[in-house]
Amino acid sequence: MNIDIATLFPEMLENYLSESVVGRARAKNIFTVTCHNIRDYTQDKHRRVDDTPYSERQGMLMQCEPIYNCYKSVTAGKAKPHVIYMSPQGKTLTQKRAKELSQLDSIFILCGHYEGVDSRVIDEIVDEEISVGDYVLTGGELPALVHCVVRMLEGTLSQADCYEDESHYNGLLEYPQYTRPEVWHDREVPKVLLSGNHAEIAKWRREEAVKATYLKRPELLERSPLTEKDLAIIHKLEEKENKK
Ligand code: SAM
Repeated sequence: MNIDIATLFPEMLENYLSESVVGRARAKNIFTVTCHNIRDYTQDKHRRVDDTPYSERQGMLMQCEPIYNCYKSVTAGKAKPHVIYMSPQGKTLTQKRAKELSQLDSIFILCGHYEGVDSRVIDEIVDEEISVGDYVLTGGELPALVHCVVRMLEGTLSQADCYEDESHYNGLLEYPQYTRPEVWHDREVPKVLLSGNHAEIAKWRREEAVKATYLKRPELLERSPLTEKDLAIIHKLEEKENKK
């Protein structure tokens, strides 16, 4: 997979994209990512890329032309990538969408700044707006998307770190996890996890995932594919709560 990122802060992103899981996957060529400085594509002699909005509105807006020139230059002679604009107005990023995006050959991500971007360039080049949550950021929104997508590329995570067990992949939150020591502050690791019985451990994990989701994010259960056994666990939890 190839990712091109148009931003005003390539150095900031480069650092982030060179570390940890993403940095290692990049070093192994599991994906390629290039950050492009939108400022390199302005015709302005002072390298300006922003101007005041047409309205009484305060602040500055990113202009169309530098963004468009950057997009055209980066994609020249290549197949059209899927173009994403990171925006608080987009659909909120989900694990499901990240998985779908990880199956594309090429994405081009536009990061806004200041008060945002002149709408005309969004209409001209953008296929999809993605938000990382219902709040407004100044920057730093991008690592969320790239990390989420890249973690699901084959070879990025070791088998032991598989994402299929993690929160949100199957509509549930992850079950609780423990590491050494076996007892900490009188709190013991659940016995089943020390048993070596894989079937029992799998059963425990599923039950705990259902419980965690019920207790922490019950609204997720409405969209989760639940089995009869899961429903029975939820029923028990509901009964317990009603007795309180
Ligand atoms: N004036 C814009 C609005 O109200 O919709 C917000 C602009 S924001 C200060 C500047 C840039 O940060 C945006 O262009 C976008 O690229 C990015 N950004 C801010 N919040 C975001 C979010 N929740 N998700 C994704 N990107 C975000």
